[in-house]
Amino acid sequence: MKLLSIIIPCYNEEENIADFYSEFMKNASYFSNHGLNIEMCFIDDGSTDGTMAAIKELQQKDERVRFISFSRNFGKEAAIFAGLKKAQGDYLVFMDADLQDPPSLLPEMFGYLDKGYDSVATRRVNRKGEPMIRSFFARRFYKLMKKISKAEIVDGARDYRLITRQVADAILSMPEYNRFTKGIFGWIGYKTKWLEYENVERRKGETKWSFWRLFMYSLEGITAFSTVPLMMASIIGLFFCIIAFVFIVIIIIRAAVFGDPTSGWPSLVCIILLVSGVQLFCIGIIGEYLAKTYMEVKKRPLYLVKEEV
Ligand code: UDP
Ligand code: MG
Repeated sequence: MKLLSIIIPCYNEEENIADFYSEFMKNASYFSNHGLNIEMCFIDDGSTDGTMAAIKELQQKDERVRFISFSRNFGKEAAIFAGLKKAQGDYLVFMDADLQDPPSLLPEMFGYLDKGYDSVATRRVNRKGEPMIRSFFARRFYKLMKKISKAEIVDGARDYRLITRQVADAILSMPEYNRFTKGIFGWIGYKTKWLEYENVERRKGETKWSFWRLFMYSLEGITAFSTVPLMMASIIGLFFCIIAFVFIVIIIIRAAVFGDPTSGWPSLVCIILLVSGVQLFCIGIIGEYLAKTYMEVKKRPLYLVKEEV
């Protein structure tokens, strides 16, 4: 018998845990017919509601349910990593607790592993039920990443993914602190099959990703998988040097031909403001990378465990 591990990060999902379990178990016969045992790893990411109680209740009923609970909220990326570390399966699948990742897709996903794929990933083809402005910026983000990063990051990609042990070990071998899983999957390679499905809206509760949190997360993605912004300082600097050089030539000629009327300080002020603004902006970009390096160098643990079964 092979083992399938289901990794479920949960943050304040008390209403969804039981639903998730029963919905998932509708496919139980498929797994037993295909010689698969399952283990469910719930990662409680420092929930402040009854999530932990709901998980423990399941654990009493079904010993295949295991869990880790964090000492506080460390974020979904940390939860995914903790789950990967804990899970012992030959196959692993990441799923959200809110049933946005339909378990009914799993049999089809397994079919592709049999065909020789190492990883079966999903993307949603639409963003039904999402605020327009959010979709707009998400699209821009994926377009930008395509241009500035070598890691392939797919628009609409979800974290719902079925992988083999080999791929899981590859991810575990990347112990970086600033984790951006979508980028990591693109970076490691392996043969990946993309399945598409229509967006499913969250069953109960609310999304944990505010616009601001998503924005910060996108910056994380950019700094973790591209160094193009760092080059911007050099490019802008070069551009200004060329302009300055042209102006120097013009001014020298003008002074030689027409004499030198001392005027034009308003334009001078504008230029100083512009150039110092650009300089500060570039220093800010460098600072962003420096901050990431600083966090990386500290080697703090990604998460702290409070309880584990
Ligand atoms: N989640 C988590 N830690 C967090 C935020 C979210 O473990 O800090 C979990 C959450 O419980 C859910 C999954 O990550 O199972 C996806 O979160 P959500 O549904 O809020 O995101 P969305 O689907 O709206 O992108
Ligand atoms: Mg969700």
